[in-house]
Order: sequence, then C-alpha cells, then structure tokens
Amino acid sequence: MPAVSNPSRTPVFRLITIASSGLGSLILGLWGLKFGFGDGVAGMSSELAGGVVAGLCALAAIVAAMSFFAGVDESVSFVVKETQFDKLTGLLSRPAMIARIAEAARSTTRTGEPVFLLDLDIGRFKQINEQIGFGKGDELVRAFAQRLRNCLPDSVTIGRIGAGEFAVLYPDAYFNQSMDIIAERLISELLEPYDLATHQQSVNVSVGIVALPKDGLDPTILLRRSNLALQHARAAGIGNWSVFHPDIGKAAEYRHWVEAELNTAFERGDFDVHYQPQIDQTKGRIVGYEALIRWKHPERGMIPPMEFIPIAEETGMIVPIGEWVLRRACSDAKYLPEDCFVAVNISTVQFMTKDFVGLVGDVVRQTGIKPERLELELTETAMMQDRERAAAILKELAETGISVAVDDFGTGYSNLSYLIDFPFHKLKIDRSFVSRLETDANSGAVVSTIVGLSRALGVHAIAEGVETENQATLLRAAGCDVFQGFLYGSPAPLKIVEGRLQGAHQVAGALRAS
Ligand code: C2E
Ligand code: MG
Ligand code: MG
Repeated sequence: MPAVSNPSRTPVFRLITIASSGLGSLILGLWGLKFGFGDGVAGMSSELAGGVVAGLCALAAIVAAMSFFAGVDESVSFVVKETQFDKLTGLLSRPAMIARIAEAARSTTRTGEPVFLLDLDIGRFKQINEQIGFGKGDELVRAFAQRLRNCLPDSVTIGRIGAGEFAVLYPDAYFNQSMDIIAERLISELLEPYDLATHQQSVNVSVGIVALPKDGLDPTILLRRSNLALQHARAAGIGNWSVFHPDIGKAAEYRHWVEAELNTAFERGDFDVHYQPQIDQTKGRIVGYEALIRWKHPERGMIPPMEFIPIAEETGMIVPIGEWVLRRACSDAKYLPEDCFVAVNISTVQFMTKDFVGLVGDVVRQTGIKPERLELELTETAMMQDRERAAAILKELAETGISVAVDDFGTGYSNLSYLIDFPFHKLKIDRSFVSRLETDANSGAVVSTIVGLSRALGVHAIAEGVETENQATLLRAAGCDVFQGFLYGSPAPLKIVEGRLQGAHQVAGALRAS
C-alpha cells in the first residue's frame, strides 16, 4: 500500500496530451480562419494569416499543457514531502513507515531474508514535554532522532511514528552481531543525556522488537506487536529491550490493570511499609531497617513491588508513592531504636525530579528524624542517568548528613569510574551473588572483591538476601560482616502498641550467629 498515490503521468502520456492539444488547436485555428478571415488580414494572404493564427493557437495549447504538467509535478512533490517525511526530524512519517514495512514484508516473502522491526521510545515523553515546554520538547526529539540516525547504518530505514516514538527497519543482512549486543549498544548510546540549549536532558529508552515474517506480515499488526514488546521492555525498568512473544499480550493486559489500579490504590489506602533489619555481626545487633513498600489490593491481595514499581516509574506515579514511603519511613523512625537508621529505596525517576534534595530536606524537618538516621538506597542506574547532576545531588545530601547506599551493587554498570566521583557510604552486594555463594566459587570471588573495593574506598559493605547459615559463614570469610536477609528477619510491619515498638523486630538470628 503506497503512502501517497502519485498522480504524475508517464512521458508517453504527456507527449500524447501535448501533441493532441497542439494539433487540436491548429485544426481549430485553420477552421476559424476559413470562416473568419476569408479575404486575408493585414496585407497577408488568407492562407498565410491562417497559418500564423493556427500556429499561435497550437503553441499556446502546447505551453498550457506543459505548464499543467509542471504544476502537477510540483504539487506531487509537495504532497510527497508533506506526507512522507516528518517535518521535525526529517525522518520518514508514520504513513511512509507503514508503506516501508509493507515493502519489507513483500521482500521477505520473496527472498526469505528476515527483517527486524524495532519500536523505540523516549520514556514519559508527554511528562517531559509538559515539564520542559513544547519548544524544548521538540529540540529533544530532534537531538534524539539525530543520535538514532548516527547510531545506525545509513541504509537502515528510520521513521518517527509518534510524538516520542520511532521505528527502525533493520534487515537481518545488516546484523553482524547478535540482536542483544545491537539493542544494548543502541540503548546505552541513546541513554546518554542530551545537550539542549538550556540544560542537559536525561531520558529513559525502551525498545520492542518483532521479526518479519515470523511475527507477521501486516504492517498494522507488526506495529502493534512491536509496541507490545516495547511496553513489556518499559515495564522492566530503565533502558530495557524485549522481543515479541505471544504471551506478551496477556502481560500488557495485566500492566494496564496495574496502571489503572495504581491511581486508586492511594486513595483506598492499600499501601503499607514493612521493615527488614540489617545486622552488624561485629556489633552483635541490628543497626538499621530497610523500608519496603507493600501493596495489598482488596481483591487480588499482595502485589509484589517488582510488578508495580516499574509501572509506577513509567507513569510518574512513583513520585507521589516514593514521597509517601519516605515520609512514612522517616516518621516511623521515632519508634525504632535511636542507634538504628532507616533505609529508603529511591527510584531513578524520583531521584531525577527537579527538587529532590529540597523534598528530602522538607521531609527530614517535618518528621524530625536526625539526618544521620536516614539512608537512601540508590541504584547504579540512577546515578548514571546524568552523572554531573547525580554527583551534585549526592554532594548536597552528604553535606546534610544523610547517607547513601548503592543498592544491588554489581548488577548495573561495569564502568566503575563513578565510584570515584560520587560521595556515598555503602555498597549493598546484590543478592544474586549471595544466593550462588554455596554453589559457585566465582560468586565468592566477586563478594571478596566488592568487600575489598569498599574498604579501599573507605565505605561500608552489606550483603543482602542472606538466607542460610552457610552463606553467612562464607560471607564472613569473604570479609563481610553486615547482613540483611530472611535468615535474620523478613520484612514485617512495625507493631506499635501505645506508641511503643513491640518485639516483632527482635532478631534471634543476629544473636545466634554472632
Ligand atoms: P531491594 O531494594 O533490593 O530490596 C530487597 C528485596 O529483597 C526485597 O524485596 C526483600 O523483601 C527481598 N529480600 C530480603 N531478604 C531476602 C532473602 O533473604 N531472600 C530473598 N530471595 N529475598 C529477600 P521486595 O520487598 O519484593 O522489593 C523488591 C524491590 O522493589 C526492592 O529491591 C526495591 O528495588 C523495590 N522497592 C521496594 N520498596 C520500594 C520503595 O518503597 N520504593 C522504591 N522506589 N522501590 C522499592
Ligand atoms: Mg533496597
Ligand atoms: Mg537490593
């Protein structure tokens, strides 16, 4: 299905039109002369006058026909330009992209060579646009399109198919690497902040991928499927990609349900905060508690944070939710022992909000928590979104006495240079290393390396997800003495009776193992 039906005519057709209008006018001129200038005109014989007039008529008709075709050509190229290309970025427009997908479908059927369709988008573009203004939003789209163009081979077809959404047709023949390497490299380049005239803008990028002919041949269906894969990737957090598979439809349905329910969950009072102790074995006591949000839906029951946090991040709901958890945890700190801190998880989206430090300062003042008793858990991804800004925020937080722990350490960026630039106080060794300690010698090596790194940097290390005595012994052997995990206590609500904390957070394991 071509994007624009082209009204231009073939050269033969044009020649016939021009010749027939010229000939017609010539005959008409001669016929007019025979009856109009019977006795000759201006001293010319009637034959000569007839010839001149008929010739002029023919010339006028030829010029008129040629000018008509020139006009048609001009309007065709205008219409093509208007509808085939996106004005803002110069990339193909959505209708033109649909035409190219149809072409690719025809060619893959003919040649058997697979083609990939990638759907990419700037996460929460609508909110970014509202935040920075439409002019700067356009500037961001242009810069993003330019970066996308630069990241891909010249012959790859790229279109802008939505406000902050792009499609790429990537023939299999261009792949000299596996899809995961290509997608990850593309995402990591597109995630780098964009230099706009007034500021640096960070974005989230997700990619959904379908393969032709495997996932279909109809452009509309293919675009819908690549978009489902995109939504799936987006739900998994920052900078993800996903390949379409038939179950994705069901996942999308659930995601829409979660998204809709999140809006009312707050008013219904579904949320609660549970606390999980952190034990310092050298001190033989609990040193802090991690605050973990819990969502109890009236019909579906408990919904795990990993199912709704990424969606809340995507829709922006994480900002009020995160603020609520922060406020609640800081206020609950008054029930916890004075020598214990409370650790609050901070989402990347929340960390990137305009006045994050101001908000934390307000909450600290309003709840009366001592800043030294507040720890913020950030992931490496949050810090890497906009390094300069992150470094400035962390410096401001450190000046107020609030500490920062790098959560899930070891699973994010391999480039560790940020550890030098950023002031932080703790590395939380990801539970994936802890869970493999007993079976995989390399995990032990990773844990010892992280502990050594923390010592060299003069910061603390804590292992999360400690479930067995054996893991605790191996962690101690690797030099780690601070633990969090089911072995010492699961996340639980604070039990407050008459304003005092009851024994729910007494940790038998801590005393047993110390
Ligand atoms: P996280 O910050 O790494 O939190 C630790 C997770 O490990 C928690 O899962 C906790 O229940 C679980 N866990 C603790 N001990 C063990 C153990 O021994 N074994 C195993 N297998 N798991 C253990 P949870 O509560 O489901 O939270 C998952 C993630 O959701 C958190 O990972 C955090 O990234 C996010 N999250 C939770 N609460 C919040 C919140 O209030 N705000 C934000 N932004 N994210 C949150
Ligand atoms: Mg955490
Ligand atoms: Mg963690």
